[in-house]
Amino acid sequence: MITIWACPKCGRSFRREGQRHACGLGSRATLLRGKPPGLVTLYHSLEAMLQRLGTVEIVTRDRYALFRTTRIFVDLVFMRDALRVVVHLDREVRAPCFFKVQRGSPHRVAHVAMLRTAGDLQTIAPYLERAYRLAADEERSKGPLAVGWSGRGPEGPAS
Ligand SMILES: [Zn+2]
Repeated sequence: MITIWACPKCGRSFRREGQRHACGLGSRATLLRGKPPGLVTLYHSLEAMLQRLGTVEIVTRDRYALFRTTRIFVDLVFMRDALRVVVHLDREVRAPCFFKVQRGSPHRVAHVAMLRTAGDLQTIAPYLERAYRLAADEERSKGPLAVGWSGRGPEGPAS
């Protein structure tokens, strides 16, 4: 079962009671301050794309941004000339856009891409959507994930 615990200080929800975290959501203005305009535009496009997928919480710290449901499904760091984006999927995907793939646990595989252009963002768009659905579906139903690469998986039980 996924336990939802809300931090009494900041109200954010987590899957484990007492989950360690930095309270609050941080500041987007701080994240974007002094960054190259091209990367700021790219960040806004990425953020808009992720928010269109559903309910997404955005947490920013320094140069970092995390995108989560009650679990992080995408995170990124501002590099000097690129956004280093990590897409969290349930299995390894071999695609030229990912220069690094890191297996965490059997169903947590981090895929790392460098985004410099709107085209780079379009390339990883299907994976971003996939990552979101995996995280969101986990909340609705326990058990094996059966979501297709395109289209929607079976609806989980109503909660
Ligand atoms: Zn908190």
